[in-house]
Amino acid sequence: ITREEPHYFGAGPAALPTSVLQQAAQDLINFKGLGLGIGEISHRDKNAINVIDETKSKLIELLEIPDTHEVFFLQGGATSGFSAIATNLLAHHAKKTGKRGKASYVITGGWSSKAYEEINRFGIESEILSNSKEIYGSFGKIQPFEEWNKPSEDSAFVYYCDNETVHGVEFPFVPQYENVEIVADLSSNILSKKIDVSKFGVIYAGAQKNVGLAGITIYIIKKSLLDQANDQELRDLSLPITPISFHFPTVVKQNSLYNTIPVFTVQILNLVLGKLIKDGGLNHQEALNLQKSSNLYDILDKYSDFYSLPVDKEFRSKMNVIFKTPSVELEDKFLEGAKEVKLTGLKGHRSVGGLRASLYNAVTVESTELLINFVERFAQENK
Ligand code: PLP
Repeated sequence: ITREEPHYFGAGPAALPTSVLQQAAQDLINFKGLGLGIGEISHRDKNAINVIDETKSKLIELLEIPDTHEVFFLQGGATSGFSAIATNLLAHHAKKTGKRGKASYVITGGWSSKAYEEINRFGIESEILSNSKEIYGSFGKIQPFEEWNKPSEDSAFVYYCDNETVHGVEFPFVPQYENVEIVADLSSNILSKKIDVSKFGVIYAGAQKNVGLAGITIYIIKKSLLDQANDQELRDLSLPITPISFHFPTVVKQNSLYNTIPVFTVQILNLVLGKLIKDGGLNHQEALNLQKSSNLYDILDKYSDFYSLPVDKEFRSKMNVIFKTPSVELEDKFLEGAKEVKLTGLKGHRSVGGLRASLYNAVTVESTELLINFVERFAQENK
C-alpha cells in the first residue's frame, strides 16, 4: 500500500510519515507473524504489554524523563485531561495538606481557556494568574512572567498550554514556582523540541497532532503526585472524585491497563517514536522544526504589506503558523490556489478565521519549501 507524499498542513489530526503507516497497516493485519492484528489480541497479552513498554521506554529515551516521573496512557483525548488533571492534583493536595486546594490558570489562547472553563464546571476553586486577552485585547502575546499574579498559598497547581494550536502562541519559557506544581498541555508540540521534564508536575498531550493518531493521550507525571486522598477524605472536603479510568494512581499501578487500551493506536505511537530516534532524536527534530518555521515566518514578514501575523515574534509557534491575507476573498483564492499545487489543510480554525500552516514533525522541509514558494508567489501576484 502506498501513496503520493502529502503536503498536508492540517492542525490535527495531522499527517504521519508514510513509512510508519505502512508498517502500521501490516501490524493491524498480522502483527509479527501472529496471524492476528495488534488491535485484535488481548490488551493483557505479552505482545500488547511489549508495545506499551516499548513505547514508554522510547518516550523516556527521547525526552530524557528522570526517575522521579512516570509515563502512562489514557483514552479520552486531551479534553478529558482538563478535569482529570485537576481532580487528581487536588486529591494529592488534599492528602498533603488536609485541605481543599485551588487551581491556578494562565490563559493564552483557546485551549487554556477551555481547560479553565471545564474545571469551573466541576466547581473547583480557581484563579487566573494571567489572561492575555484581558491584558492585550487579543491572544497574540504572553504577559512577562514577573507580571503575573502570584498563585495563592493554597494553589495545588499552575496550568498552562505550551502551544496554543488555534492562536499560534507558543511559550518561550517554563513558569516555575518553589511550592506549586506546573501542569502543561503539550498536545500540539510534544516531541517537537527538547524540554526539561523535571520542571513539570504533569505534562500531557493528545497524540494526534505531532506523534500519532487520535485515541491515546500521553501523560508524564511526577511520581509524588500519585499519593492522593481517598474517596472518603475527598467527600469530607467536598472535592470531586475522579472516575476510576482517569484515576492516575490506579492507571499507573496497572501499567496503563486498568481498562482496555487501544493497543493499535499505541503501536502507531511506538513506530513514530522509533523513527524519531532513528532519525537523530529531538536535537535533530528541533533543528528541522526551527528551520521550517523560521523560513515560513521570514517570507510572511518579507511580504508584511500583504500578509498580517497576529502573534508577536517572541511567542510565534513553531508548530502552528497563523497568518491572514488582506480580505476573506483573497483567503479563499489562497486556499484554492494552494490546493491546485497540492498544498492542503491550510484553513484557519473556525473560531479565528484566516490561514494556518501546521508544521508538525511529519511535515518535511520539502513540503514547507513548496508552501513558502506559493506564499511568495501569491503575494507577488495579488498585492
Ligand atoms: N489541547 C490542545 C493544545 C489542542 O490542540 C487540542 C486539540 O484538539 C486539545 C487540547 C484537545 O484535544 P482532544 O481533541 O484530544 O481532546
